[in-house]
Amino acid sequence: LNVEIVTIGDELLLGFTVDTNSGFLGRELASLGVTVARHTTCGDDIGVIVQTLREAVNRTGAVITTGGLGPTADDMTVEAVAKLFDRELVRDETIAQWLEQRWVAYARKGPMPVSNYKQAMIPRGAEIIANPVGSAPGVLVTDDRGRWVATLPGVPREARAMFTESLRPRVAALAGEGNVIRSMTLRSTGIGESSIADKLGELGKGVNGLSLAFLPGVAGVDLRLTSRDRASVDADAALAEGARILREKLGDVIYGDDSASLASVVIDVCRKSNVRIAVAESCTGGMLGAHITDVPGASDVFHGGLIAYDNRVKRQLLGVPDSDLVEHGAVSEPVALQMAKGIRVRLGTEIGVSITGIAGPGGGTPEKPVGTVWIAVDVSEGRPPIPRPEGEPPITPYAKARVFHFIGNRDEIRYRAAQAALDMIRRTVLDLPKTSAI
Ligand code: ATP
Repeated sequence: LNVEIVTIGDELLLGFTVDTNSGFLGRELASLGVTVARHTTCGDDIGVIVQTLREAVNRTGAVITTGGLGPTADDMTVEAVAKLFDRELVRDETIAQWLEQRWVAYARKGPMPVSNYKQAMIPRGAEIIANPVGSAPGVLVTDDRGRWVATLPGVPREARAMFTESLRPRVAALAGEGNVIRSMTLRSTGIGESSIADKLGELGKGVNGLSLAFLPGVAGVDLRLTSRDRASVDADAALAEGARILREKLGDVIYGDDSASLASVVIDVCRKSNVRIAVAESCTGGMLGAHITDVPGASDVFHGGLIAYDNRVKRQLLGVPDSDLVEHGAVSEPVALQMAKGIRVRLGTEIGVSITGIAGPGGGTPEKPVGTVWIAVDVSEGRPPIPRPEGEPPITPYAKARVFHFIGNRDEIRYRAAQAALDMIRRTVLDLPKTSAI
């Protein structure tokens, strides 16, 4: 099955909105074994939309659009589809009532604006694609030759939900049991792509008959395995085996798969080991805490933190000795260690983590250039102590600090520092039983 994607909206052409819908649809369709033959973007002009859809439908007979389903004058996708297939627009009473109920349910004042009823106008004979998360429904119009156009809204969250719930099963049925293109991603951090390539050796060229792509980003290097020309079950089995081989080869530099965030992995490992964390941040200004609290349910593991930006805060609230600040500077091993210990003791957690560094663009020196960041972890039994999980030995107190030299601009350095701190927490917790046994 060949499909064309048409994304509609002036904002896409003007560059104010980056087209993420076609990326999502491309990945989803590939995973179903559907070929995306072409992807076109056009502006909010009825003539241009009709022409674009006509060319697309003539080429492949199967088109998915996003955008232009709203109630305003610049939303004209459904009208264009009606014109294309020469269908009259008729009011669908079920949609009209649903829009009214939704209006009331959201406690909007007064009667629903007349313009909203535009969303109830659909081409005669069209199927409705329900919108579980927004107001604009989509339509699926098929002509007597079996050629079809399906419309999804522009808002990515709505387009995704509608595709997944309504359109995906239909497209899957049309595509049949053919071969699929399917990928999975393993996520690494704290190691560069060339070092990973060295570790992998020959495997870097491909694993278990799967292609392997290295995708470096500020959060770390993602390794994407892709299976082509296999049936769905075989693709899944090949990917699972490929992932197993890579994990075996790379060990704990892999922290998760697909869209797992490092913070969510950290919360998971801490929860399993019954340890709580507290953070003291200088140059990241709360970013570490923000990443951790991005994870729903983080509160049973994360107790809180302090942004210790000024040296007085480091001294007065974390107990960093003045002599260390004067002798070694705020970005130094002893200060990082004391910050981690200070926050752990004050918040009564098992682990304290600190970050102190120079994010730039100013403030660097020849000895401590921009990008120099000290990260420390301090471990001990919390107050009040919480029981160790069965089979795990008691926690032996210890502390460690590491210096990093991150590259990039201020944002990247701060992001990399938060990510490295998360990875230090992850490794510390994974090593707890071993460390304690020493
Ligand atoms: P609405 O009912 O909200 O008007 P709509 O179908 O009319 O839905 P648009 O008005 O075209 O959608 O776009 C709504 C929002 O979705 C805009 O903020 C736009 O920037 C965003 N958007 C539109 N198309 C895309 C796309 N292809 N990728 C990512 N975002 C998009």
